[in-house]
Amino acid sequence: MNYLSTRGAGAGERHTFSEILLGGLAKDGGLYLPADYPRVTPDELTRWRTLPYADLAFEILSKFCDDIPADDLRALTGKTYTAATYCNVRDDESAAQITPLKTLGVEDGAPLSLLELSNGPTLAFKDMAMQLIGNLFEYALAKHGETLNILGATSGDTGSAAEYAMRGKKGIRVFMLSPYKKMSAFQTAQMYSLQDPNIFNLAVQGVFDDAQDIVKAVSNDHAFKAKYKIGTVNSINWARVVAQVVYYFKGYFAATKSNAERVSFTVPSGNFGNVCAGHIARMMGLPIEKLVVATNENDVLDEFFRTGIYRVRKAAETYHTSSPSMDISKASNFERFVYDLLGRDPARVLQLFRDVEEKGGFDLAASGDFARVKEFGFVSGSSSHDTRVDTIRDVFQRYDTMIDTHTADGVKVAREHLQPGIPMIVLETAQPIKFGETIREALLREPERPAAFSGLESLPQRFEVVPADAQRVKDFIVANTGE
Ligand SMILES: *Cc1c(COP(=O)(O)O)cnc(C)c1O
Repeated sequence: MNYLSTRGAGAGERHTFSEILLGGLAKDGGLYLPADYPRVTPDELTRWRTLPYADLAFEILSKFCDDIPADDLRALTGKTYTAATYCNVRDDESAAQITPLKTLGVEDGAPLSLLELSNGPTLAFKDMAMQLIGNLFEYALAKHGETLNILGATSGDTGSAAEYAMRGKKGIRVFMLSPYKKMSAFQTAQMYSLQDPNIFNLAVQGVFDDAQDIVKAVSNDHAFKAKYKIGTVNSINWARVVAQVVYYFKGYFAATKSNAERVSFTVPSGNFGNVCAGHIARMMGLPIEKLVVATNENDVLDEFFRTGIYRVRKAAETYHTSSPSMDISKASNFERFVYDLLGRDPARVLQLFRDVEEKGGFDLAASGDFARVKEFGFVSGSSSHDTRVDTIRDVFQRYDTMIDTHTADGVKVAREHLQPGIPMIVLETAQPIKFGETIREALLREPERPAAFSGLESLPQRFEVVPADAQRVKDFIVANTGE
């Protein structure tokens, strides 16, 4: 399996999976994709139907990571996808399935269900990929006797998923910047209560954008970056996308009885990483009818799928919403889909994303390519605070099920795209406890709290307060890497 850049580095610029595993953007600024998508045969689909999650992950990943010896890859998926890790769920049987499917009911003739992706250590779907990345990174670094210092900025979900994936991993340290006193008590406690010596929480005196700017400044100091082996685990990392392909298959098998059936998925979307994995599953041959992109008030993606116009927002035009993990101004994985939409024409991708930088967007409305959005099964919709709250209340009253704000955006938009006889699977991206304020507003009660999290906020916390100053962060890294 060879990987190439969406911006078209030449044939000589192809890479193996291991070569792109620890990296981010390609040298030419594009994103990595496989040179061809592996196809799944009907026989394979039949054989996979009954596999446990870890074995299914092995089968799918081995098509993409063919330069990792099979036995090693099997060991990695085996230790990643265990019932003990995905245990924040109702019962043992659900934990064994890793991503259990919860049926809600039949609406407009379509079976409606939730695919639970947030039973892992940080209660958000990002664990599904990040836990694998932690094990893959540790494996790859050990093989070459290398170390890595991961630097990131977070406003919540991503940072905690990265820390829980990397805690205790040999050869890896995490320096995670978060805005001091700006996260919820629950999210703060999740991150700051970690006592592992390889995890460093830096509470930046500023807002999230200040933390993000520091990461950019440090990463742009190429000499520092090389000397201190600074890396990232942001959402453009290819391995994160491919790990997410697995649960589309798992969800399909859970919702159907035969491979002649088709299903649709609705995906609460921000950076387009999750739904990009759905697109890849479909390109591999999984019988997906529709991929429904659900956004919140930050509707950059909904606007594109409705009109063909991609118009990124300025920071000041980005709303702070009650589904904050979808508050994006542009979607960092979107370029991967655009590459396929344009028939894999790297010169045009390069031009369009230059237009994004120079003119703030591009317009495909008049081009024949936009019509192909339908062929790829994509439709979309958006949500607002009011519809979000209404949906949380409605799902609770009708189905006795508490859903978080992001999943609520998914259910709201899914209902606009139901087709009789075609199961609609909404990806559940987080548990309600992470966004308690809106749950209290909608239901006038406390969100459900998995047993392992009782008393979380009163655990001792370990973090370092730093001014919003890149040099001070560099000093901290130097002092704590012992190199
Ligand atoms: C990250 C996140 C999303 C958005 O996922 P993308 O892959 O960026 O589209 C949605 N919901 C929750 C809870 C998240 O943490």
